[in-house]
Amino acid sequence: MSKFDKYFLMNIDDIIEYTLEKLPNMNWDKESMKAVEIGDGNLNYVFKVWDNNGNSVIIKHAGEALRISDQMKVSTDRNRIESEILLIEETYAKGMVPHIYFYDTVMSACGMEDLSDHKLMRYALMEQEIFPKFAKDIAEFMFNTLLKTSDVVMEHKAKKELVKKFISPELCEITENLVLMEPYNDINKQNSFTKQNEEFVKRELYEDEELILEVAKLKFEFMTKAQALIHGDLHTGSIFVKQDSTKVFDPEFAFYGPMGYDIGNVIANLIFAYGKGLEKENNEFCDWILKTITEIIDIFINEYNENFEKIATEPMAKVKGFKEYYLDDILKDTASYAGTELHRRTVGMAKVKDLTSIENEDTRAFTERLNILCGKDYILNSSNFKNGVAFAKAVLKARADAE
Ligand code: ADP
Ligand code: MG
Repeated sequence: MSKFDKYFLMNIDDIIEYTLEKLPNMNWDKESMKAVEIGDGNLNYVFKVWDNNGNSVIIKHAGEALRISDQMKVSTDRNRIESEILLIEETYAKGMVPHIYFYDTVMSACGMEDLSDHKLMRYALMEQEIFPKFAKDIAEFMFNTLLKTSDVVMEHKAKKELVKKFISPELCEITENLVLMEPYNDINKQNSFTKQNEEFVKRELYEDEELILEVAKLKFEFMTKAQALIHGDLHTGSIFVKQDSTKVFDPEFAFYGPMGYDIGNVIANLIFAYGKGLEKENNEFCDWILKTITEIIDIFINEYNENFEKIATEPMAKVKGFKEYYLDDILKDTASYAGTELHRRTVGMAKVKDLTSIENEDTRAFTERLNILCGKDYILNSSNFKNGVAFAKAVLKARADAE
């Protein structure tokens, strides 16, 4: 019998004992072992455990309620999903995710590689740091994890097994509500933004019927388009960076959904960093963000065009014209979901620090308008975004219009 044979919410005092039980072969120096809680997310408990022998591990543990609201219950199965997804992503994109040492479906916890030598990308970008390798890393990561888990490449029965394994109704429901509905109707009275934009948000979001119809379609697409095994929450708080390394983590929202949801999330979150760069009047940084947006899209397209014939196994995917049709659809979704991410992080309940840390209220209001206008352009004109430059130009246009 072990104290960890039945689920309970562990706290810091349990973690060393738990680590020793789950990772007995790590050659721990028991005397010097220490643990701290380092979680900063909305959902889980994250502990770092280390010793004087140079060992360290991250233990991530799912509670039964969200940390942002104990009213919001969500299945602890998300920890299994996250662990299994990281193991799968590791096979498609080696070295680009933390390695999983174990996962435990009883305690809903896993042990993973400690990436403390990296920085959380959101904070690094808020400090205006530049990462020249990032565009290539993330574009290749997305190409490899997305296209290779789609029906273009995967044997269809094996793919459907994954669809089944990673069905995630509760996590998807969070996205369906917080991203693909509430920003547009404030149905749960959780939206917030600067007071001076009240009329603007009413006019541009709540009363724009054309926009809301497009978002309704996007919600249904999100709920039904089992296209690829997506990360599901690929924002800059789910990415660690160093100058020579990029690591994607926190895939607990993963499921079979539209590829453009992931790509669009990356683009939108770079635009939040752009807004922060404008606040700091850092032109070099802002230019690098636009260059990075351009490169991510163009490298993805290039990988796609170079590799499609080589890796496609489905005969009907090789029919003339299909390759172009399928890419157009991915890019259209990318623009659209970049738009919904821009909106939900600006007016919805789960905000981003890039925006909320802007202290001057006029500047923050301006950045909100930029995000909202850029998002609308992406959603309402989603078929027009066929290369990286188009995505970047929309940011400049929204910036001019937000003045
Ligand atoms: P949540 O699911 O609650 O959002 P995250 O997986 O985002 O949790 O982790 C919360 C924080 O814990 C991260 O922002 C990061 O600072 C830290 N963290 C998570 N995983 C690791 C890791 N493998 N190595 C180092 N730090 C980590
Ligand atoms: Mg997180």
